[in-house]
Amino acid sequence: MGSRRAWLAAATALCVAAAGDMALAASVLSPGVPAAAAVVSYSAPVHPTHVAHPFDPPSTPYGPGHLGVDLAVLPGASVAAAADGVVAFAGAVAGRGLVVVTHADGVSTEYEPITPSVRAGDRVRRGEVIGTVLGSHRRCRPGRCLHWGAKRNGDYIDPMSLLHPLGPVRLLPWTT
Ligand SMILES: [Zn+2]
Repeated sequence: MGSRRAWLAAATALCVAAAGDMALAASVLSPGVPAAAAVVSYSAPVHPTHVAHPFDPPSTPYGPGHLGVDLAVLPGASVAAAADGVVAFAGAVAGRGLVVVTHADGVSTEYEPITPSVRAGDRVRRGEVIGTVLGSHRRCRPGRCLHWGAKRNGDYIDPMSLLHPLGPVRLLPWTT
């Protein structure tokens, strides 16, 4: 991917996320200051946290893969927001309940299949319940998996990597 395109996408996403947040907006507008300097703390959306199927990114943009982790749960398990943020989407996609939360560091997290208990636009805190597991996902038995996905500036990342940051997370410039 072109670095310029990635930067534009990141800047656009951050500008949208920064609406109403003067501190973050100021960092976006300051030349030379990484826009994603905000440090966000993450915790797993379900406890205990057992990975049933790991993150498996496709080797080609449209190849097979698994763009998140499946966490083993009991049917009806409560799902918590992994970090403070704003609900960007809460509803059904292809018959499955999905919640997407955007965070101040340019990361968005996705949770499915769940019955949402929040609405788009809601501010949520880390650990706040956003829904309960209901429905089927891939190889899991119905109600036994929460699919947890994460994107950083539009690219899927392993959400488990959010849980063990090696010090403050920094946004480094892409190189071509
Ligand atoms: Zn999955």
